[in-house]
Amino acid sequence: MSTPLMPIPGHFDPVPLPRDVTPRADGRVDLMGLSRQAIIDVFAAATLDPRAAKLRAKQVFHWIYHRGVTDFAAMTDIAKTMQPWLTARFVIGRPEVVEAQASTDGTRKWLLRTADNHDYEMVFIPDADRGTLCVSSQVGCTLNCRFCHTGTMRLVRNLTPGEIVGQVMLARDALGEWPKAGGNMAGLNDELDEEDEATTRDYSADGRLLTNIVMMGMGEPLYNFDNVRDALKVVMDGDGLALSRRRITLSTSGVVPMMARCGDEIGVNLAVSLHAVTKEVRDEIVPINRKFGIEELLGACAAYPRSSNSRRITFEYVMLKDKNDSDADARELVRLLKEYDLPAKVNLIPFNPWPGAPYECSTPERIRSFSNIVFAAGISAPIRTPRGRDIDAACGQLKTASERKSRAEMDRLADEKQAALG
Ligand code: SAH
Ligand code: SF4
Repeated sequence: MSTPLMPIPGHFDPVPLPRDVTPRADGRVDLMGLSRQAIIDVFAAATLDPRAAKLRAKQVFHWIYHRGVTDFAAMTDIAKTMQPWLTARFVIGRPEVVEAQASTDGTRKWLLRTADNHDYEMVFIPDADRGTLCVSSQVGCTLNCRFCHTGTMRLVRNLTPGEIVGQVMLARDALGEWPKAGGNMAGLNDELDEEDEATTRDYSADGRLLTNIVMMGMGEPLYNFDNVRDALKVVMDGDGLALSRRRITLSTSGVVPMMARCGDEIGVNLAVSLHAVTKEVRDEIVPINRKFGIEELLGACAAYPRSSNSRRITFEYVMLKDKNDSDADARELVRLLKEYDLPAKVNLIPFNPWPGAPYECSTPERIRSFSNIVFAAGISAPIRTPRGRDIDAACGQLKTASERKSRAEMDRLADEKQAALG
């Protein structure tokens, strides 16, 4: 199913550019990000008979996403004669790493590059009891929330499922978290030995560094719905990375028409970037509010499917000095959440500054007072400790040099080049 373009009147211009894969110069197909069915299809298209395509796809899927293997020659249960056939037609890619940085607090940030030269970022945030990978869904963003550095970029393009899943794969590579090499794959091969079963069990046990994923990097994930859904389905597949949907959170600025589909078709935890409780302020700082207002947004949150009350919706609230941080704002937030009967948690995010930002962060006392009011009403309202600020890895600080050139600019550059060639 493809998502229709979603026009928003006014000054923003969301154009979810259709693109499933980034074509490679060598003509080979990158399997990264493909589902098992998609791998069956590309194998069948490359003339494997249906039975063989199905079996090979199952094996290859497991090697790619469960073992982290990038070389067909390492797939020990695939015949030696078959391996060169695969290598000639397919690759198992990773995003190119342009730069890797580490913060003094342990947060890590990677600057990544797509095959067609666009830069985007991912961030890993280690905590005592979990490790969270913050994944990007777009290069740039069509929306322009006033406090967000990514919002000052134009949308360059949507990331493909391969570029989204590729971030998770790369993080696993960097953290050294693939199960030991060798052995056959569980559940498929009759020759599976006991030692291999033990490896599989160890791997699914706790103790991994990367335990959670948040779609909170660059971009608005619900404006790249199909690719984000397809990518997360691969990430959740039990034969591969096998991350539980309970450990995945998708954050949206409030693309109301896509929220129901997010619940039905992806089923992950939802975080909503609320940030203000009045139309006037939210219109200013989260401009998509002019299209989908607070009531509509909270109505969509109330309808978001939940298997139980324990799956609360997270409301993100950036603390901006003298803008949205008064005690009256806190009380109105409580009133709204109660009115819509939302099992909610509020994340108070101290504003992370960036050069030229038009806001300042609220004072610690103000944030504390805001938090106390929400907490006193029985709603959890933790104050987020900023992570990775020293390497510009904190919420809202991500921005890359990639800018999409307009048609006119590209034409002008082409003319200049032509003129220079004489
Ligand atoms: N586009 C999605 C997800 C990415 S942003 C969204 O807007 O929800 C992840 C979170 O960081 C959002 O809640 C966003 O509003 C917040 N954020 C953006 N800029 C920030 C800043 N400068 N300081 C603190 N939080 C910020
Ligand atoms: Fe885009 Fe989210 Fe930043 Fe708003 S906060 S500009 S939706 S990335």
